[in-house]
Amino acid sequence: MSRRVSFMPYKPKAILNKHKRADHWFWTRYSAYPYIGCQHGCEFCYCREQKYSPYEDPNDFAYVIKIKENAPDLLRRALSKTAVDLVFTGDYQPAERKFEISRRMLEICRDLGFPVFVLERSPLVLRDLDLLQEINSHAPSVVAFSIISTPDSPNFTRVCQLEHLAPPSEERFAAMEKFARAGILTGTCFMPILPGLCDEDANLEAVIRWTADHGGKFVLASSLTLADQQKNYFLEVLRKDFPDLLSHYQRLYPPASYAPRDYVWQRIALRIRELCTKYGISDRVPRPIIPGDKRALNKRIVERLAEKLYEMEIHQEPDHLVWAYRKAAWAIEDLEQDIGLIYRTMGLKGLQNIPDVGPRLGENIEKVLTEINHQVAE
Ligand code: SF4
Repeated sequence: MSRRVSFMPYKPKAILNKHKRADHWFWTRYSAYPYIGCQHGCEFCYCREQKYSPYEDPNDFAYVIKIKENAPDLLRRALSKTAVDLVFTGDYQPAERKFEISRRMLEICRDLGFPVFVLERSPLVLRDLDLLQEINSHAPSVVAFSIISTPDSPNFTRVCQLEHLAPPSEERFAAMEKFARAGILTGTCFMPILPGLCDEDANLEAVIRWTADHGGKFVLASSLTLADQQKNYFLEVLRKDFPDLLSHYQRLYPPASYAPRDYVWQRIALRIRELCTKYGISDRVPRPIIPGDKRALNKRIVERLAEKLYEMEIHQEPDHLVWAYRKAAWAIEDLEQDIGLIYRTMGLKGLQNIPDVGPRLGENIEKVLTEINHQVAE
């Protein structure tokens, strides 16, 4: 018998999480969510980790939903005194039909000129297409769908069993197509790639092909992480429903591990890159830049450096080189001055003198600047 869902409205003191700088995956700087717990109840969900889930009984995560009833007021207050940047928001689990807090939060983002990144497992997000189009017409926004399997995938039935409370992936792809037609940047967050269920070549290709066929422009992928109570919960699910996979997961995720051990993620990432190229899409989310942003050029350069460092990661280049790019990207993200002005007034020396850049990366940044200038001129 299916369990009844209960809703627990409450008033948190704060809603907006501010990050020091935009992250290199989604390009979001802020995040704000209306609910805790998720009725989609995906068995592998990282939100079951202790730090995200305040439930004593892990089974409550999908059935006791905490409603942040003052979220829109808090968001308006917080964004009114914050620099405009991309906000990670929106949660279209069934509770949203009743409470409509995601919609009210989007209205605030629209009113105050903040672009948004919405990541969804439900086509209910289409209800707010009008609002998302309005937001997107002022500042480029993104609506991505969490999808890890398709009807063409070898383990589709088993994966569906692990996300049986969420709407079918065909409905998510159909919604993706509508967002693409409406001119909103959309694509797939292929997360998490479950070992032994989603990492077969046929599944990688199916997810990428379906994304391209439904107007998606990117597939952003990452592997499964397992921590504390979430790990115990998921291993129990495997023990009960997929005992044939249990020892594989126990080997990949020994005690105290978080990411899979001895799992060649880079091989999967390289294959995803190859398949994305085959289908004419990207394995990175293009960075949305707000029109009139005085640091637009800095942001474009950070985007290029982040692309480069991801490429270095998947080619397993030495950590110190990857870190050099990461730190340079952070330094440019933190720069208050326009990097174009620095280059025009001080030349290469000016770029090399930016903290954490130095001589070699300064030269690379000079090349990127020249490429970007050529693209703008064309
Ligand atoms: S839809 Fe997302 S947040 Fe909700 S349970 Fe599934 S993975 Fe977790």
